[in-house]
Amino acid sequence: MTIDLHTHSSVSDGTASPADLVRAAAAAGLEVVALTDHDTTAGWVEAVAAAEECGIGLVRGIEVSARYRGAPVHLLAYLPDPRDQALQAELGRIVAGREERVPAMLARLRELGIPATEAALAEVSPSNRVTGRPHVADLLVRLGVVADRDEAFARYLADGKAAYVDRYAADLISMIGLVDAARGVAVVAHPWGRGSAPVLDERAFAELAGAGLAGVEVDHLDHDAAARSGLRAIAGRLDLIVTGSSDHHGTGKTGHGLGCETTAPGQLRRILDRAAALGSPTGLVGRARR
Ligand code: AMP
Ligand code: ZN
Ligand code: FE
Ligand code: FE
Repeated sequence: MTIDLHTHSSVSDGTASPADLVRAAAAAGLEVVALTDHDTTAGWVEAVAAAEECGIGLVRGIEVSARYRGAPVHLLAYLPDPRDQALQAELGRIVAGREERVPAMLARLRELGIPATEAALAEVSPSNRVTGRPHVADLLVRLGVVADRDEAFARYLADGKAAYVDRYAADLISMIGLVDAARGVAVVAHPWGRGSAPVLDERAFAELAGAGLAGVEVDHLDHDAAARSGLRAIAGRLDLIVTGSSDHHGTGKTGHGLGCETTAPGQLRRILDRAAALGSPTGLVGRARR
């Protein structure tokens, strides 16, 4: 069984619509896919319809922008109740922070002599999307300033570069509590990838587990073999669920093809059982025809 629990659609910074993403996952032979757009549940309804149409299992999730001891940490929240008001209110604050940051990044770029206007950005990122640096990167590609998103981050958008602007992120411990209260399952995304590695040691994971963390994403392209074995050992000692995922962004991120990293069926079962035990109304959908 091929299970991929971390993908992005064009509702955030992936390139395929939620329906097309789900269809692509089915066409790629996945049996279960999770949609985990940044900081929003806006793609869920469309993804459910597509999953039911093509008979692929869909796990509804969110990749939440959080902060722990000053470092950015991404938290995957699987199967929370999307009507939970406290969770949605905090997601709203994060999205508002993203929207405030965009004009500031464009202004920095203009100071560098690059004609990065809001109107030009709107062409690569319509206003119904959760905007991020990848969209600003797409604008730089369109303007001919860089060749691709990676070069845009390396030269302008990565933390510390000239057009980088910070934004609001949720406190990680509080967010784990909000996800749990919304009857969802919290899993730290790519903990030893970019940014969060220095703060997420075993003591930190123990603290997070005490706050309600359920799992850790181990098999991710940002992790080399040593990182994977270290994280797997920590997960074993703390009895955390272990996941693996592509972090697919469509054509926006090379090398992250659907299903390039996967989660074991028994670990998915633990996620589904935990959500069910919490009374989540958001189970696995779309497998009725199998
Ligand atoms: P943002 O949500 O605006 O903070 O941007 C984060 C997104 O940009 C994530 O989806 C990452 O996959 C992507 N990203 C972050 N750093 C880089 C980088 N150095 N090169 C390419 N993409 C990156
Ligand atoms: Zn992304
Ligand atoms: Fe991430
Ligand atoms: Fe991601």
